[in-house]
Amino acid sequence: MDYEGKICRPAFEKGAFKLPISVGCSYNQCKFCCLFKYLNFKIIDDEKVFAEIDRVKNATGKPEICFLGDGNAFHNSTDRLIKIITYLKNNIPSIKKIRMDSTITDIKNKTDEEIKRLSEIGVDILYIGIESGLDDVLAFMNKEHRTNIEAKEQIDRIHKYNIDYSAHIMAGVSGANRGIENAKALAKFFNETKPVSITNFTMLTSRKQKLYKDVLEGNFKSATEVECLDEAKELINEININTDIDSFHDYLPFRVKGHLPKDKEKLISQIDKMIKKLQLKKEVKLYIATSYDVENITNIVDKIGFDYEIISEFGNEDLTDKIYNKELLNNLAKKINIESMNKSVSGSNVVNSNELVVVSNARVVVFENKILGKAENREKAYEMLKMLSGKKHFVLSSMCVYYNGEYHIKNEETEMFFRNLSDEEIYRYIDGAKPFDKYGSYDIQDEFFDFEDNYIGTYNNVAGFPLNILIDILNELKLTMNN
Ligand code: SF4
Repeated sequence: MDYEGKICRPAFEKGAFKLPISVGCSYNQCKFCCLFKYLNFKIIDDEKVFAEIDRVKNATGKPEICFLGDGNAFHNSTDRLIKIITYLKNNIPSIKKIRMDSTITDIKNKTDEEIKRLSEIGVDILYIGIESGLDDVLAFMNKEHRTNIEAKEQIDRIHKYNIDYSAHIMAGVSGANRGIENAKALAKFFNETKPVSITNFTMLTSRKQKLYKDVLEGNFKSATEVECLDEAKELINEININTDIDSFHDYLPFRVKGHLPKDKEKLISQIDKMIKKLQLKKEVKLYIATSYDVENITNIVDKIGFDYEIISEFGNEDLTDKIYNKELLNNLAKKINIESMNKSVSGSNVVNSNELVVVSNARVVVFENKILGKAENREKAYEMLKMLSGKKHFVLSSMCVYYNGEYHIKNEETEMFFRNLSDEEIYRYIDGAKPFDKYGSYDIQDEFFDFEDNYIGTYNNVAGFPLNILIDILNELKLTMNN
């Protein structure tokens, strides 16, 4: 089946047969969410849904679980859900369990009789965005349900008919300095409502979200990554029910996953170790020399809470159309580092001391081994994005750290997959973002960007600064509290 928008399914359902029956989110107004930014909720024709079921049947797979998508499939009418599930089970008898995303309002809109019928036909788990345990945060984020009491009432209704729920939450959703308060409130909510599993994402703030306006106006201050880890730790510590937990962080390749209470101590000790890796020793300050967008880098490094200064911008050597090779990129990263030190130490604000830590990063976008340049006008940008549409390309970085008279270099590679893009989508992006100064003609942090289908590697590398390899280098140099 051709998917519209991004493929989205809970990590706990990665083995399920994903069957889209509708597109997008019927609400689509949460301030932090841009999952379905350009998609209006719509029903996928029965014909297409049944054809997809037939395709899987003919492929002779024997899936036991079907995850109905996309967005909040529970918003579909009960009659339609039952019609589809009946066809599904008649044609693929191995299917025993049906799961899907739901909002609290979707449950509220169904009668007890409808919930009972859905349970009887096999619906056993609903995935629900609980997000926060604090009512003022739900209201600020413009969540459809505004109170946790409301959420609990609806969860109690599905429990009455043996349908469980799995919670989605986001560390950092309550902003700076409120993580522990949020974790305690959430743990209380979970101890009462007993989700079978909990997925904890760390909230990313980006120009794509409605929330970004609040960030710019000072109404919302993002929590640092260390605060988010403290929040995740507090939550795990306070939960006293049997449940699975998966806590992961887009900013860093870090994830803790296990069953509570059995794995509580292990998960907490993993988080503690990571927190120490993210804390610089008191005397350490980073000077970051970059040829890349300063706002992008600030967005990434601020989230970690390092003491840093961006000392200057340095012109990148143009590698356009060259065949990629690692040495080329490493040499460039080192060159930026040396240049920045020479200029800054002689002319401005870098303190020339033994503790000087200068960081530079060189980054390229590569398609079929060739380094992509900037497209200077609308048509060239269109050509480049059309070329990347539906295909895989790479974002490669070389991070160079100067410390104590030596240079230390590490590399990062992200495989990036774009969806099949329509001309309309490409031009909407170009006209909105004007990406004429961007290598590869796009910036993943752009307000208008939603082309990614998937990526293997780290988000930050694509966003402009591969924080994870910087952290690795700083740990190896014993500049963090981990040592
Ligand atoms: S968080 Fe969920 S309910 Fe809110 S807009 Fe996104 S998909 Fe819709």
